[in-house]
Amino acid sequence: MKNCDVLLCDLDAFFASVELLDNPSLKDKPVLVGGNPEGRGVVSTCSYEARKYGVRSAMPMKKALSLCPGAVVLKGRMWRYKEMSQQVRGIFEQFTPDIEVVSIDEAYLAVKEGLGLETGKAIHKKVRKELGLPISVGVSANKLLAKIACDQAKPNNVGMLWPAEVEEKLWPLPVRILPGIGPVNGSKLNNLGINTVRDLANYSREALVQLLGSHGETISSYAHGIDKRGFETEQEAKSISEETTFPEDIHDREAIQAVLLELAAGVGYRLRCAGIAARTITLKLRFKDFKTVTRSSTLPDTVCNDSDIYNAAKELFEKHCAKPPWRLIGIQASGLEQGSQMSLFSSSPEHEKEDKLTATKDKLRTKYGSEVLFHARRLKKK
Ligand SMILES: [Mg+2]
Repeated sequence: MKNCDVLLCDLDAFFASVELLDNPSLKDKPVLVGGNPEGRGVVSTCSYEARKYGVRSAMPMKKALSLCPGAVVLKGRMWRYKEMSQQVRGIFEQFTPDIEVVSIDEAYLAVKEGLGLETGKAIHKKVRKELGLPISVGVSANKLLAKIACDQAKPNNVGMLWPAEVEEKLWPLPVRILPGIGPVNGSKLNNLGINTVRDLANYSREALVQLLGSHGETISSYAHGIDKRGFETEQEAKSISEETTFPEDIHDREAIQAVLLELAAGVGYRLRCAGIAARTITLKLRFKDFKTVTRSSTLPDTVCNDSDIYNAAKELFEKHCAKPPWRLIGIQASGLEQGSQMSLFSSSPEHEKEDKLTATKDKLRTKYGSEVLFHARRLKKK
């Protein structure tokens, strides 16, 4: 993964967290989601409360209940977990189209180099605030280190582990921290006196291959924090969108244009963060009677700067706004293409000036969060 920061986003005790969310009376109780304790059921997820008793996922339900007799056992509602997983995915998509889904509660995200921590914190905050679910995020330059950073940060936290910190932070940890070293390989290594990742890193690659087979090669790289795996993102159509529902219906055209300007800035910022540009801009508009329309415009060139997105959306609004009041407005960017460079747009002095302004705004947003920038028009309105 060259020139990218990699995030591993992993929802904490996901199934149990969803059950707690839907049924707050379970809060602070040990909750086990999984199979029937009478049969051969196993625990698929346990709440952090249950983990205090030594319960772990994949443990037979019977054993879990003997460790934690007071636990609440739930069968699980896969449809509901899928629904929540989709919503989390929706939040990820607001930040980058480069998403590799690992499982229902885990995904790798790639963002522009240097924006990993900022994005990780923003995702953590959004998932907590909008969905009420605990999530942990690991940030690094490759998948391996992002995964370990996430494991170390758990629960409900954001952590980092950079290649330059491998000796200091990764080497003192036990070998079992590395993916691919389970109980069997772990005890094989321990029997040879290889206990920490540092021991492993100092062990010869050839000897490791002899001991662990072809897998030894990978493990040896991992011990040095090296992971060359790329991203396998889904091929489906991707988009980045932002929308606002008004607390009360809006009648004022100018006010709505000010909101459009802000939405365009939000979408533009995310496109630029992900290093992409959009060919299609879609406007979403909801009326007082809840009727919703979406109207798209495909542009001659891909766009990623705020004013191009705003102009396209504003044109759509003028054509399709019908009669006020409006209840919701949104902008979606799709037809995404890699490799947007700000310089691509510096074809005229005017554009060059705007690009500089945009770069400055992006720096401020990255530093202080997206809330910091209000458009003068919006302020004037207030
Ligand atoms: Mg998880």
